[in-house]
Amino acid sequence: MYHADIYDARHNPPSYWEATASRAKLTAAPLMQDESCDVAIIGGGFTGLSAALHLARDHGVSVRLLEAGDLAWGASGRNGGFCCLPAAKLSIAQLIERYGLAETQRFFRMQVEGMDLVSALAEDEAIQMDKTGDGNLEVAHHPKAMAGLRTTAEKMSSLFGIKTRIYTSEEFAEVGHAGTEQFGAMHMAAGFALHPLKFAIGLAEAAERRGALLHPHSKVMDWQKDPDGRHRLVTDGGTITAGKAIVATNGYTDEGLHPETDNCVLPVLSNIIVTAPLSDNLLGAERYQTTMPICNTRNLLFYYRLLPDKRFLIGARGDTTGTVENGQRKQDWMTRRLGELFPSWQGVEVDYYWRGLVCMTRKFTPSVGQFEDDPSVFYGYGYHANGVNTAPWVGRLLAQLATGKADVRQDIPAVMAGAPPRIPIAGLRPWYLRGALLYYRLSDALNG
Ligand SMILES: Cc1cc2nc3c(=O)[nH]c(=O)nc-3n(C[C@H](O)[C@H](O)[C@H](O)COP(=O)(O)OP(=O)(O)OC[C@H]3O[C@@H](n4cnc5c(N)ncnc54)[C@H](O)[C@@H]3O)c2cc1C
Repeated sequence: MYHADIYDARHNPPSYWEATASRAKLTAAPLMQDESCDVAIIGGGFTGLSAALHLARDHGVSVRLLEAGDLAWGASGRNGGFCCLPAAKLSIAQLIERYGLAETQRFFRMQVEGMDLVSALAEDEAIQMDKTGDGNLEVAHHPKAMAGLRTTAEKMSSLFGIKTRIYTSEEFAEVGHAGTEQFGAMHMAAGFALHPLKFAIGLAEAAERRGALLHPHSKVMDWQKDPDGRHRLVTDGGTITAGKAIVATNGYTDEGLHPETDNCVLPVLSNIIVTAPLSDNLLGAERYQTTMPICNTRNLLFYYRLLPDKRFLIGARGDTTGTVENGQRKQDWMTRRLGELFPSWQGVEVDYYWRGLVCMTRKFTPSVGQFEDDPSVFYGYGYHANGVNTAPWVGRLLAQLATGKADVRQDIPAVMAGAPPRIPIAGLRPWYLRGALLYYRLSDALNG
């Protein structure tokens, strides 16, 4: 759907995360011969790595993982590191209308469990993931947005038991930040921020310690089925034969990988810039003092956070082509907008810019399940830009499903169960996306 650069898995993104993490302790190597195992995983991000770790550690299963690039080359190694909720592009009211209150509550419980799982994995597996912040913040970009934040805060606590607090603009300047688009905020006492690539590499190291075999630079080019029902996943270096398969390719799912995933995903570019370290004077000028992850209330939102070394990370939705030129335009626009949000920071150096694909679907919630025509294949994708807590949780569930320790009908929250409706005329996806972005841009303009 995008320019070939977006899919070029030979090179890692020029991200701040890549510059500050190391894969040196991993023994993972590309697949160089034909091998077999109980479960083969396609995709080496949070979903696939968590599935590999849980299969090897908790279920004693022989597992091999195939990844097109380096481990965590996709969204997992290049996201903002916000461990937040919810992984859905439906409002709370829409979720309740579609799935009922009990299942919506179950979904939010799962989201919090996902956050707890990330912390527990880091602790149990001694993963140093530079965790910061205590909760998540949503900042009103316009005075009108405060009413919505108050309603959300009330629902979060009364329906889902998540503690919330509303700050006026003056109060938030005392504990969070000032700036031209800060008209109050909501704090949710759930989640935190982390170094996503360190967390992903930590998962990979833990999976290897438990005997999982991980194969970076081993893209699945062809997927065949033997007469005896075993899967044959063909890469340039060799073939893996396995009784069961897990699809964990999310926004990087190729059309043609398997008929059951064709036309199911709408990959959307997200962009991040990271500044040079900001001096205490610059931070003080904007009263910036929190390390919590923050989103603002725009439909086409900004997400931002102060990193442990005082660099500032800010992310925003990308363009619809993926060309180098449009990437440069987006970087320039984000740099300019950063200076508009925090005027004292106009002209600060931007040291890093990168982008990657998040995964949207027509369901607007994650999709977890078993292929309709092949019960030996399990899948989890479509986290709607909210996979840091959701994908590791789904990876653990996929490991349980693949080993018969969980049941497809009972153990997947209804909000996530099953594949999304197919996208009609998949070739038109860039145009659907342009239409949606235009709609959101207009609605943001009308709402300040
Ligand atoms: C810029 C950006 C910012 C984001 N910020 C946040 C955030 O702050 N908080 C949050 O919760 N979420 C965020 N997300 C979303 C989050 O990163 C994802 O939801 C999550 O990482 C998905 O994990 P995954 O393992 O399912 O997919 P991915 O990490 O994308 O992994 C899929 C992998 O499959 C591989 N693959 C695809 N096809 C094949 C094949 N044929 N053979 C072998 N391998 C294959 C790809 O190379 C890729 O590495 C962000 C995403 C991006 C891009």
